[in-house]
Amino acid sequence: MTLIVAKAIWIVGVVGWCIIRYPHGRRARRTPKVRRSDRGREIVLMAISATGLGVLPSIYVIASAPAFANYALRPWQPWLGAAVFAAALWLFHRTHKDLGRNWSVTLEVRDQHTLVTNGVYSRVRHPMYLAFWLWAVAQALLLPNFGTLFFLRVGREEALMPESFGDEYRRYMARTSRILPGIY
Ligand code: SAH
Repeated sequence: MTLIVAKAIWIVGVVGWCIIRYPHGRRARRTPKVRRSDRGREIVLMAISATGLGVLPSIYVIASAPAFANYALRPWQPWLGAAVFAAALWLFHRTHKDLGRNWSVTLEVRDQHTLVTNGVYSRVRHPMYLAFWLWAVAQALLLPNFGTLFFLRVGREEALMPESFGDEYRRYMARTSRILPGIY
């Protein structure tokens, strides 16, 4: 399979991601919030994330630049990349279904926020970030990538949730993993 096909798979994956997100983004803008984490920090983190998952790979897709990021594509890479991206899209869709109106693009707590511990949240606390990681892995197979948002946000998020849910969240933490069941 050629590089052009690998790039096309990446584009299809990103477009699919945006289609899944679109209705949730619209609803989230209309849902009131009661607690909001540091907004400036969130914007910087998301800009870094968008650079790694959107801007830089788009430059690579269009111009095959920067040259240092180019690597020799092995024939199996695009297939595996497509499979991992498909898994990422499925998980991203599931997390939105399970979180419902509790989801927000930046770190926020909603009016009438409920703690979701079912569905894909029953074994890991951050399946949506896992979906982003799967995107990053797929991208690494198809194109170059980054993974900054997770490391700089997840600790703060896990400090924010007990402020609202106290021991209920701590008990949930005690019986679940962050993203890899039984490992991390
Ligand atoms: N970290 C989660 C959710 C990402 S969306 C994941 O990776 O799947 C971020 C928003 O989700 C945060 O503003 C927080 O308020 C909310 N959130 C995170 N975990 C939640 C849970 N278990 N139940 C309800 N809301 C949650």
